[in-house]
Amino acid sequence: MQFKIFKNKNLIQGVSNASFGSINEKRSVKFLKSLGYKNISPKNLVWAEQVFSSRVHVCLPKDSGKIIKEVDGLISNVPDQILGIISADCVPVLLYDPKQKVVAALHGGRKCLTKGIIKNAIEEMVLNFNSKPKDILVGIGPHIRACHYWLKEKTYQNLKDTKFEKYFIKRKNKVYFDLTKLAFDEFLKSGIKKKNIEDCKICTFCFYKKYFSARKEEEFPGIYKEKNSRFASFIGIEKKTKTAIDRI
Ligand SMILES: [Zn+2]
Repeated sequence: MQFKIFKNKNLIQGVSNASFGSINEKRSVKFLKSLGYKNISPKNLVWAEQVFSSRVHVCLPKDSGKIIKEVDGLISNVPDQILGIISADCVPVLLYDPKQKVVAALHGGRKCLTKGIIKNAIEEMVLNFNSKPKDILVGIGPHIRACHYWLKEKTYQNLKDTKFEKYFIKRKNKVYFDLTKLAFDEFLKSGIKKKNIEDCKICTFCFYKKYFSARKEEEFPGIYKEKNSRFASFIGIEKKTKTAIDRI
């Protein structure tokens, strides 16, 4: 899938799905080429190690082709540098500031979100690139939603009696957690406009065949050909190649 909010903005963007298999470098290139982006190679990609932190890295040209250690978010204004986040239930978030031409990709795991990754990312965009939150466009990718994300006992104990208790939804004998609402609230608190947020509305558990769901796999082992299958969300600024008309 691709986000409508990022269309026609000279961006390389999209979320892979299960038809490409569990994502790796080679499949990432294949996926991006399938969207019509030419001249993509693994050297264009930057990955975050994804350690369930709230740390965000501002990429330099030399970061292309690398995995950035100990971070869960990436920011870049380097053309043709494509940021990649892998997930299978966590919230993948893509951001773009069309004024300052800066992109970001965040791994919105529950821990990353509760630790404040969204706030950190927006602060870094403001600090490093003079972004204004009201200009920033957001795409929220497929993730496990309140329909299926129930909390295990340990997580429940960790979150109860905290400010995150308001995202609990009690149904039958389980407590569910609304990651989507948490992400939205974090964006709004950081000054992002609601109209500038596009939520794809896809639940990975509901659509576990089209995307991948770690929780579904945990409950039904063996549903995927490859263990720990993941899909990826990408965003990058497309280098403007001069067309014949531009040169006239
Ligand atoms: Zn669901």
